[in-house]
Amino acid sequence: MQPRWSTAQPILPRHPRWGEFIDRLAGPEACNFHGDRWTCFGDLRFSVNILREMGVDNPSIEVAIAYFNDHGGFCDCEVIFNVESHRPGQ
Ligand SMILES: [Zn+2]
Repeated sequence: MQPRWSTAQPILPRHPRWGEFIDRLAGPEACNFHGDRWTCFGDLRFSVNILREMGVDNPSIEVAIAYFNDHGGFCDCEVIFNVESHRPGQ
C-alpha cells in the first residue's frame, strides 16, 4: 500500500500529524499499551515503520530519530514516555 502523500518534514511534536504518530505507536500495531504492560524491543523499529508508512522520507526519519534521542527516546516506549510528555503546551 502506498502512502497517500509524502512529507518532506520530520514528524516531531509540533507537526500536525504528531498525535496520529503517537496514537499508532501506542496502539496494537506497535507498543500495544495495556495498563503497565506493553511491547518494546529496546529500539525504534516501530517508530521507524510507522513514520515510513506515514510517508516520511529517510532523511526526515533520521532527523526524527536524532530528536527522539535528544529527548530521552532511545526506544519506542521511551518516545511515548519521554518525548511525548515534553510536547509544548502539555
Ligand atoms: Zn522501550
